[in-house]
Amino acid sequence: MIRFEQVGKKYPNGHIGLHELTFRVRKGEFVFVTGHSGAGKSTMLRLLLAMERPTSGKLLLAGQNLGQITRSQIPFLRRQIGVVFQNHQLLFDRSVFDNVALPLRILGLSQAEINQRVSLALERVSLKEKALQAPADLSTGQQQRVGIARAIVHQPALLLADEPTGNLDPRLAAEIMSVFEDINKLGTTVVIASHDLALIARMRHRMLTLQRGRIIGDGEA
Ligand code: ADP
Repeated sequence: MIRFEQVGKKYPNGHIGLHELTFRVRKGEFVFVTGHSGAGKSTMLRLLLAMERPTSGKLLLAGQNLGQITRSQIPFLRRQIGVVFQNHQLLFDRSVFDNVALPLRILGLSQAEINQRVSLALERVSLKEKALQAPADLSTGQQQRVGIARAIVHQPALLLADEPTGNLDPRLAAEIMSVFEDINKLGTTVVIASHDLALIARMRHRMLTLQRGRIIGDGEA
């Protein structure tokens, strides 16, 4: 699914985001990426989303070379990816349903298809009964689950998350991680950047550890 071959990222100001990173993620894997602030986690995610380009090496996502992707190919790439952010970025003037439906409306799907897919996504995060509520009426953990539903509603092959439990207490954080595990069991490849080491250690998935743009560990947490 993901292949980094000696991928380097040097920002225009000379800062090094990543140093010749080499690793692979197989289809269906569940991987944590950890490391201190500045280690390169966000750079890695931004490269996968083609928000940035590698400055050296080769980066393949589902066989597509992201170093050579054209601007017009980027929307197609992003349809294969779902993204969950720390501060879920929900629209508070719209219902839970409409928040989750947003990516599908952008894709121009029919209302019938939108209804079906949004229901399925909300069911996956156990929020089906909250569809018509406003995000403000939900708890922080529920809001984050709406963010996850929105990220999976277009049925991406790859789900990326950037510190998805950063704002949550330990119990809610564990609950959110188990939602990611459920999604992974249905076949979606999951890559989560997190520095919640206590939580990661309990989950026994593969953990890639970055330090100053290099991999310093790769194995079961
Ligand atoms: P993390 O997500 O692990 O905190 P980042 O990927 O944000 O790490 O940062 C890795 C390195 O790249 C840091 O040295 C950071 O200063 C640098 N960096 C990240 N984004 C930019 C940018 N837009 N411009 C310049 N340097 C950047």
